[in-house]
Amino acid sequence: MSMRELVVLGTASQAPTRARNHNGYVLRWDDEVILFDPGEGSQRQLLHTGVTATDLTRICVTHFHGDHCLGLPGTIQRLSLDRVPRPVAVHFPAGGAEYFDRLRHASSFHETAELVVEPITADGQRFALRAGTLQARRLRHPIETYGYRLVEPDGCRMLPERLAAYGIAGPAVGELLRVGHLDVGGRRVTRDEVSVTRPGQRFAFVMDTGLCDGVYALAEHADLLVIESTFLASEAALAAEVGHLTAGQAARVAAESGVRTLVLTHFSQRYADARRFADEAREHFAGELVIAEDLMTVPVPPRRVASGG
Ligand SMILES: [Zn+2]
Repeated sequence: MSMRELVVLGTASQAPTRARNHNGYVLRWDDEVILFDPGEGSQRQLLHTGVTATDLTRICVTHFHGDHCLGLPGTIQRLSLDRVPRPVAVHFPAGGAEYFDRLRHASSFHETAELVVEPITADGQRFALRAGTLQARRLRHPIETYGYRLVEPDGCRMLPERLAAYGIAGPAVGELLRVGHLDVGGRRVTRDEVSVTRPGQRFAFVMDTGLCDGVYALAEHADLLVIESTFLASEAALAAEVGHLTAGQAARVAAESGVRTLVLTHFSQRYADARRFADEAREHFAGELVIAEDLMTVPVPPRRVASGG
């Protein structure tokens, strides 16, 4: 059974607090282990989870404000220290390449790890992963920012009892899958009659943005959406001005996009009681709601029910 879950390293925006480390998230998705937006302290936060630097396969940075990237130097050096045995892909906005180069070589170290540097140069850029397609979408923030979305294609699960009922076995199953139908005993059997759709799963990561088309494009039908919720409604005007979301806005996006599990995070240090984020979000979103806390793990919800057959 493959593991798909979010591991939260930190949940603070701008300035960390006693209870909240700077941003940082790990998505375990089968054999992909993706580190998103490592803020300061991410390397040490990893120690408190079951994830090691050697597990990481990919790093995605949304933008180069400090709370989303100042953990890169330590994390990247750790990859070399731990002799990570495989290349690690790194994505970030191409406009911030200079920042990335500085962070990567922020201090002297013996570089052995191989980074495959693949900056985002266009809205909608896609990367083919074994588990699906990773796509970047432009967000609205004072500097170039991209959110990410991982989409697993729908699959198809054959139903052995139906195949047996039609007397289809061996290479004929492959032919039926390829062609979409098969003639057996004077009757045409279609793939839909002997299989069900196995819905692909979707993960979305939306950081530092005002409301824009990109937010909705990323969130669409996400099984798990991690989204910034820096402010509450009392600071809505400020949020719009500086390119951030309120809890209510993030929850409305989730509700309108058919999101199943909503994870709110990236909280401003001005709010002492995180329950207020839940209260505002609950007015708009009825699904599974998680107010992120450091070091918590959030499972990707079970696959949607198969259809067809
Ligand atoms: Zn920012």
